Amino acid sequence: MSHRVTLIPGDGIGPELADAAVAVLDATGVGFEWERVEAGEAQLAATGTPLPDEVLESIRRNRVALKGPITTPVGEGFRSVNVTLRQALSLYANLRPARSMAGLETRYQDVDLVIVRENTEDLYAGIEHMVGPDAAESIKIITRAASERIARFAFDYAVANGRRKVTAVHKANIMKLSDGLFLESCRTVAENYAGQVEFEDRIVDNMCMQLVQKPDLYDVLVLPNLYGDIVSDLAAGLVGGLGVAPGANIGLDAAVFEPVHGSAPKYAGTDTANPTALILSGALMLRHLGETDAAERVESALRSIVAEGATITADMGGSAGTAAFGRAVAERVAGAPVAVA
Ligand code: NAD
Repeated sequence: MSHRVTLIPGDGIGPELADAAVAVLDATGVGFEWERVEAGEAQLAATGTPLPDEVLESIRRNRVALKGPITTPVGEGFRSVNVTLRQALSLYANLRPARSMAGLETRYQDVDLVIVRENTEDLYAGIEHMVGPDAAESIKIITRAASERIARFAFDYAVANGRRKVTAVHKANIMKLSDGLFLESCRTVAENYAGQVEFEDRIVDNMCMQLVQKPDLYDVLVLPNLYGDIVSDLAAGLVGGLGVAPGANIGLDAAVFEPVHGSAPKYAGTDTANPTALILSGALMLRHLGETDAAERVESALRSIVAEGATITADMGGSAGTAAFGRAVAERVAGAPVAVA
């Protein structure tokens, strides 16, 4: 059976990474029909919108997308395409595993964290306004429905993947109503998993310190949107940086798989960026599609190429280009020579 998947290469380093990731995924022998659609800066220039309707229509039709990063102007200009996509498609769960890789020089060798970030509300709801010329307000939205939904996702993930503990991360000591509601919702959901999965909570600032000092104490973390965004970059830093951190945005009707990192514009077109995060996002996609064996082959091929160290990109301490690294992983997966576009 072949899978029809929407492919959004994205901005900056995105297209180079997409070529490498598609080569690796095709090398598994799983049948893919890639429906390539464009979103981002070039689309804005050409059509007046960075997110044409056809992109959303394609994802709604195929229900699965692999996406490169998309640039968002800071402080002005269009709203983040990434945030808009997640909200328009109700991709309520953002899953970001962070697992150590042999061969990468990092402070710890055995980090194995899974960040589950609520993806639709909090300060990212996009409700902000000026209050006169010299003050601005952003509104933080937390609902019981969305908080319980993400907590259930975290616990279900823990059960399905044999994980021992879920930690809810919050700042309920200060934001007693909003973060208080998030924590209360997590506690309510945790009761249904008592005896199966352990539950605890941490205040976000303390959580950051503990992750830097003792990451092995933690397993699955569930967080509101903003803390999840920040803590998942921290977790990426523990296992080798943004170049190796995959992600998935999952909803009831669609799922979009994308790296944690952005479009790194200064490296665009230089064949130096690391495609690992997008390739591992592709492995998460394979699991989502039920192609577990292919997912394991991609992960183990990539891990072996990184551990050997002969063909790795600059951020991992090597000198291979994006395409050469992608080709090495694809050939390891296929067991035969492979061309990268
Ligand atoms: P970034 O992740 O693009 O880059 C930060 C730094 O991380 C880079 O300078 C580089 O040193 C390193 N890095 C990131 N990805 C790498 C890779 N694959 N290989 C090697 N090194 C890599 O973050 P930024 O500079 O803050 O953001 C650039 C743009 O990306 C912004 O417009 C931002 O809004 C956007 N962004 C998009 C997404 C997304 O599409 N989901 C996520 C984050 C940021």
